[in-house]
Amino acid sequence: MARVFSGIQPSGDLHLGNYLGALRRFAREAQSPESLFCIVDLHAITVPQDPAELRARTIQMANLYLASGLDPDVVTLFVQSHVPAHSELAWLMECTASFGELSRMTQFKEKSDRRDFVSAGLFTYPALMAADILLYDTAQVPVGDDQRQHLELTRDVAMRFNSRYGDTFVVPEAVIPKAAARVMDLQNPTSKMSKSTESPQGTVGMLDEPSTIEKKFKRAVTDNDAEVRYDVEAKPGVSNLLSILAAATDRTIEDVASGYTQYGPLKADAAAAVVEVLGPVQERYAELAADPAQTEKILASGAEKARAAAAVVLDRARDAVGLLPRS
Ligand code: ATP
Ligand code: MG
Repeated sequence: MARVFSGIQPSGDLHLGNYLGALRRFAREAQSPESLFCIVDLHAITVPQDPAELRARTIQMANLYLASGLDPDVVTLFVQSHVPAHSELAWLMECTASFGELSRMTQFKEKSDRRDFVSAGLFTYPALMAADILLYDTAQVPVGDDQRQHLELTRDVAMRFNSRYGDTFVVPEAVIPKAAARVMDLQNPTSKMSKSTESPQGTVGMLDEPSTIEKKFKRAVTDNDAEVRYDVEAKPGVSNLLSILAAATDRTIEDVASGYTQYGPLKADAAAAVVEVLGPVQERYAELAADPAQTEKILASGAEKARAAAAVVLDRARDAVGLLPRS
């Protein structure tokens, strides 16, 4: 099995996009001792976070990983800031990525557009992300479509480092799902569903009650031409509903689309499918949330495993650059 790494920020409540685009796939496709899953708290603080909320969310995030089916006795589940090598390698990555490259990142443009204070960390975020991935000789990175550009940058930076200093890093590949690679906001279907965007009616939370999920789908924005067809450009709202229903029921979009002529039943069935998919995850989550000490233990042993793996690659990179050995 290939080495796999993926991360999620404890920056807000997890949503359906995080589940279909990332979490669900981890347990299905990457339940292996070669897989590392990370709660990337250092990425979360690139925008202001309330300290108490950040603490609570970090544990919540771990429980959602576990509730989605990851077995901590098989995979490594850990918190990014528990492994200082991430920050150390990030500096080497900042010195390998160019200002121009970082300036072209669409996530930076989108996130910095929305705020008065833009931290330097928000700008260098992709360098830290490259470090996260390269630190474990990662071959595959299961992510949603929104991370495609950051993954390309990670590959470019890895190749540049390798050509400057000799073969040091494995050049990783993004693994992007076929259905629901980019779940869109139900109220604003030309923007992706996001933890950090204020759109409570357009965002379906992983822990939303069934009645709330039904209400949100019922009110989902569509269009006026009353035709069920998959066409992301012309019909973003309807296409999003089709893609969610297809992913939630493990069918193809074509197959799903052929079954509807009206929006009402499509919305109702998409809601029902999402309720069914999230139900068992919510049940497991409730059990895990009752025992935070157990979760902390899992994260402590994950960090220990991750630190050991990261140390090897960090030393290799330090040595390649010409930094003196520490001992
Ligand atoms: P933020 O708004 O804070 O950036 P986010 O919702 O984008 O939060 P991340 O923690 O940045 O979530 O990403 C975690 C994982 O979820 C990544 O693999 C990302 O590609 C995936 N993901 C995020 N949003 C979506 C979405 N709308 N559809 C599919 N996958 C998504
Ligand atoms: Mg994001």
